[in-house]
Formats: sequence, C-alpha cells, structure tokens
Amino acid sequence: MAEKVYDVIILGGGPAGLTAGLYASRGRLNTLLIEAGLPGGQMTTTDLIENYPGFPQGVPGEQLSRLMEEQTRRFGLEIVNEEILEMKIHGVHKHVRTSRTTHACKALIICTGAEYRKLGVPGEKEFAGRGVSYCATCDAAFFRDSRIVVVGGGDSALTEALFLTKFVRELTIIHRRDALRATKIYQERALSNPRIKFLWNSVVHEIRGEQIVKSILVKNVRTGKITEHDTEGVFMFVGVSPRTQFLNGLIQLDPGGYVITNADCETSVRGIFAAGDCTRKLLRQIVTAVGDGATAAFAAEKYLEQKE
Ligand code: NAP
Repeated sequence: MAEKVYDVIILGGGPAGLTAGLYASRGRLNTLLIEAGLPGGQMTTTDLIENYPGFPQGVPGEQLSRLMEEQTRRFGLEIVNEEILEMKIHGVHKHVRTSRTTHACKALIICTGAEYRKLGVPGEKEFAGRGVSYCATCDAAFFRDSRIVVVGGGDSALTEALFLTKFVRELTIIHRRDALRATKIYQERALSNPRIKFLWNSVVHEIRGEQIVKSILVKNVRTGKITEHDTEGVFMFVGVSPRTQFLNGLIQLDPGGYVITNADCETSVRGIFAAGDCTRKLLRQIVTAVGDGATAAFAAEKYLEQKE
C-alpha cells in the first residue's frame, strides 16, 4: 500500500503548534500534529498566565492548553502522542521518524519549542527529582514548609518563585548579577514580597546531599568566596534551549540553535516552516507563538497551492 502523505505535519503541540493545527485544519488541509508530551507544551506547567489577552483575571496554563486543543479537535486536527526522532527530506516529501513509525508530508511546520537549560554543576544530575526541580507547578507540593532556593533572574525564575511562596517556608532567589532580567511587574512583585530573599552576584557551585538535597555551595562572583547554605530544594530557571537537535543540520540555525525564519515563517528549506519558541526571535511568549503558528500554517497553505 502506498504510504499516506499528509498535506501538513506539525512538530510540537505548544501554543504555536496548536494554532498552526487550528489554521491548517480549518483550511481543510490534511494535517497531523506530533507531540511527545501533553498538548499545550510549557503552558501545561504554568500556574497562571496573565499576559494572554482576553483573560482579565489570568488563565491557568493547564486550562488554556485544554481549550486550545479542544478548538483544534473541533476542526478535525489529528494529534498523535509520539516522540520526534529525526527529519529527512526525500524529493518533494518530508519524512518524520518518531518513536512509533515514520510519517510523510508535503509541508512541515516545526514548533518544537524550547526546554529548560541545565546548570551543569556537580550534584544537579544526581539530585534531579530528589530536590532539584525544573517545574514549580509539578513539584511545589513536595516542598510544603521547606526551605528552598530558586536560581535565575528572568521571567521564569520570578514567576515560579512567586508561585512557590504559597507552599514553602523560606525562599531565596540566587542570581548571578545585581539586577534582574525579568519583566518589571514580576520584579516589583518579587522584590516587595516579604517571603522572598535575594542572594545577588552569586552562582550555585555544587549541590550536596545524601538521598535528597541537603545544602548547596554558593560562590560570590565578585569576591570568589564560597559558602554553604542549607536547603531542601533547588529550582533551576536559567534559560531555555531550543529543541532543534533532531534537524541534523538540514535547516539553517543561528549559533544558539534557534531556527532562522523570515517574516512568513519560512525556513532555509522550501516547504518547511517554523513557529514559536524554537525560532530566532525577540519575544518568546504565548501571544507571539500563536501569531507565528497562524502565519506558518497560512504560508504552508500558499506553498501547497503554488505546488499544485
Ligand atoms: P531567560 O529570560 O533567558 O533568563 C534566564 C536567567 O537565568 C537570567 O537571569 C540569566 O542571568 C540566568 N542564567 C543563565 N545562565 C545562567 C548560569 N549559567 N548561571 C546562573 N544564572 C544563569 O530565561 P527564562 O526566564 O526561562 O525565560 C525564557 C523566555 O520565556 C523569555 O523570553 C521569557 O520572557 C519567557 N517567559 C515569559 C513568562 C511570562 O511572560 N509570564 C514567563 C516565563 C518565561 P542573566 O540575567 O545574567 O543573563
């Protein structure tokens, strides 16, 4: 039997992928979305989203994910739960090898997003899941009444720290500079929160413990002095890395591994588009991801029309 060739395959089911799926399926394109985790991507682990228009009181990330998925299903988007392993280009068709099978399509939209970066210090790997965490909404309940630290000074570190104050007894943000990177409103909230302390100009040097985390060594980057601090949890929010390794050099990336696209979400390969956090862009947020997703699906539709 001849292999099934989709009009469009979308890689990744975060806000960019789900929006691309909505537009492509409403455009009556035969579309498949491949997602290894839960539809919604990083939104699913966000406590409250306050900067997505239309929700004056904010919306829980899990709820927005569910609503976006429901909307795509209404227009017949096919979603499979498979891990994306490799992409190949065979003539005019693109092939995606997953943990289960290989899928083929005429146009491909890459929306694989980004994942939290690891710090790479001794103890981080050993204590992952035993005191070291990258997701406050997933793990906060395990740290009720504990003393914890949050590493980083960006939006993720501050929003997750603010959320964690509802659970923990004591929280210290460790930041490598003396100025925060996060959006001003999060800075104001964190700096005025009596439950959050700050350790400035400091980096985590080592994570120590036995079965679980007991303490960390912190280095002051100005003085070089290393001190030991008791802690039961270390939440890491030191930025993100794009999930683009599976592209194996087939598409042009910037030095940071982000996909280079033009204003129409076209990549360096005809018929392959990219949208959302995995692309090189100024602002990585849900609101920009959905805009990219819509543009990528529309551009894919135009590409298919021209081909036929
Ligand atoms: P980010 O903005 O890149 O911030 C990373 C933070 O970690 C920075 O403060 C950085 O310090 C610090 N850092 C990086 N490498 C480090 C290292 N090796 N050791 C110690 N500290 C290190 O990453 P993010 O906060 O995960 O945010 C990622 C994207 O998602 C951003 O575009 C952000 O706006 C967006 N986001 C938005 C929201 C929201 O709007 N509600 C929430 C979460 C995330 P420096 O400041 O010194 O570089």
